Formats: sequence, structure tokens, C-alpha cells
Amino acid sequence: MTVEMPDPDRYLTSQVPHLPRALFRVLPSMATHTCHNDDGVPFRKECQRTEIPHLFEHLVLELQSQAQTATVLRGDTEWNWRETPRGFFTVTVDYDNELLVIGAIKLAERMIVAMDLNDVDALDMPVEIARLCDLARIGREMEPMTFGFSAGNRVGEPGAEPHPSEAVLPVPRSRRRVPRRTWSSVTFRPAVEEETEPLSMASPGG
Ligand SMILES: [Zn+2]
Repeated sequence: MTVEMPDPDRYLTSQVPHLPRALFRVLPSMATHTCHNDDGVPFRKECQRTEIPHLFEHLVLELQSQAQTATVLRGDTEWNWRETPRGFFTVTVDYDNELLVIGAIKLAERMIVAMDLNDVDALDMPVEIARLCDLARIGREMEPMTFGFSAGNRVGEPGAEPHPSEAVLPVPRSRRRVPRRTWSSVTFRPAVEEETEPLSMASPGG
């Protein structure tokens, strides 16, 4: 999926340090994520200074694994601003339940906005996770119906990578992978609400 970061002063978690702080407070299990980054540091350390879409990628993986037992889920965050507009990131995540991954993406987006606004406590996480579990159950019941999109690699599909034993294991970011299809765009709202311009209506007649 494409993640658009409209504010060039807010690409990195180091520019919004309260974001990773809130993340590990709300979801302490994320500190155990494997992360293959250029510096070879654990995700918890990498997260202090990384691209916010990379944090989003890990969050989508974590939310899926909280709602449904996963073999292994990998993710990848890449960008190439020679080919795409500046601020566009391509985030690829593994999933094995289409409804669940949609719910996880939407919740991750809401969580990042809430954390950015220092308002994450307004989200009732046990309720949100319970909703994801419901979505996961419905998704399993609807198998093998698909919605015809791809957020990344569906686990177990031909072409998907084999499963090691870890619960959440993002792939090295150096292993660039082009998603088969871009199906959604997640846009983070700026922290400051923009004033909405009234619609200018052409007066009929004259
Ligand atoms: Zn990572």
C-alpha cells in the first residue's frame, strides 16, 4: 500500500519522539519485534529514529498477530522519490486474513494519528483488539472468498516466503520487494487541523 506523508518535517520518528514512546507504552510487545535495518539494531532502538511508515508497518504486523495466531508475518518499507512524489512510501505487509489486515491497517492509522496528538489513551485498546478478533473470525468464516486486493504477500500463497517459527519477523529492508498491486492509500492527517474552505457555489442565472 502507499503511505503518503504530506509534511516533510515529520517523516521520521525522531521528529516526533512522543510517537515511539507512546507506541511501546501502549503495545509493549512491540519491543520484541525482529527488525532488519541498516544498523542492525533492535526494533526498539531503530524506532527512535526511523521513517514513520516503517513504524506503521510494524504496527500493522503487531495488530494482526494480536488478533489471530500467526506463523510469521513479514513487512517491508521502501521509497524511491525519483519515481514517486516526495513523501510517498510503499509499505508491504504479510497477512493471512484479508478482513483482519484491513482492520489492522485502519486501526494502525488511527493509533498513529492519536499518538501524534498525544491522545492515544482515548482509544480503548482491549476493545479495539476485541473488534479485530471479531473481524479475524468473520474473515476466517468467509474463506476462501477474497476481495481482490493485495496489501502484500498472503501467507501460504504460491510465491509467499516460507515460515520460520517467530511470530512477527519483518524482512530486511534491503530486500526490496515490489508489491503486486497497490490497493489503498493511507494518508496521515497533519497534527494541526486545516481550516476547511467553504465550497464556492456558482450562482445560477445572474
Ligand atoms: Zn523493521
